Amino acid sequence: MVITIVKKKLLLGIGLAALALLGSEVEKTLADNARVVKYIPTTHKIVALTFDDGPGKKTPEILSILRARNVRATFFVVGEMVEKYPQYVRDEFAGGHEVGNHTFTHVRLSHINKEKLLNELDRTDRLLAKTLGIKCTLFRPPGGGYDHTLLDEASRRDYTIVLWSVDSHDWYSSGEGIVRSVLRNTRPGGIILFHDGIGPLPTSKVLPLIIDRLKEQGYEFLTVSELLRYYEERPKYSVD
Ligand SMILES: [Zn+2]
Repeated sequence: MVITIVKKKLLLGIGLAALALLGSEVEKTLADNARVVKYIPTTHKIVALTFDDGPGKKTPEILSILRARNVRATFFVVGEMVEKYPQYVRDEFAGGHEVGNHTFTHVRLSHINKEKLLNELDRTDRLLAKTLGIKCTLFRPPGGGYDHTLLDEASRRDYTIVLWSVDSHDWYSSGEGIVRSVLRNTRPGGIILFHDGIGPLPTSKVLPLIIDRLKEQGYEFLTVSELLRYYEERPKYSVD
């Protein structure tokens, strides 16, 4: 009898330890994954529109399309473009959009040393703090490349690295190609990549149609930080 109880307690103990281990493993995996985000696992029909490399000459047009449709997006801005068009980035922020850091000179981070990398990250961080009065929390590396140094430094600065799950190919595709690519590949929790800082691009011509079609399919548009809150749902699905 005593032996049985001890055995039961032992088994229970092992079981609890295994559960604790499972729990911490899940948490660790989530924490690691959450540092680099391509999409959010969710069943809700939500997506984030993102615009890179601006602000630029096309930014006001993109902003007016988003305003007319009551849609908020996220702009990954380049520091030297913010210096050139500070009012545009203020307009983005004032319009309820989110602003993320996309380096200062749009250099590929694999081509530079750690000191230069930190300078790219921190110069734009300081500039956004000065221009918008915010602490930026989203970083998108040019070309989407990252390594451990970037992961560590980004995390030290409370940055989440944001990539994308849907590439509109708007910097080389035709208008039709962009619409097809976005509509075919968009799923719940997706992050869609467009550009507003290089041009001339057909992005602003096809954006109204893309937004309208996705709305017809029941999609809602969130900023990236709003989308990230849906990470909380993930453990429920993973543990079960
Ligand atoms: Zn870029």
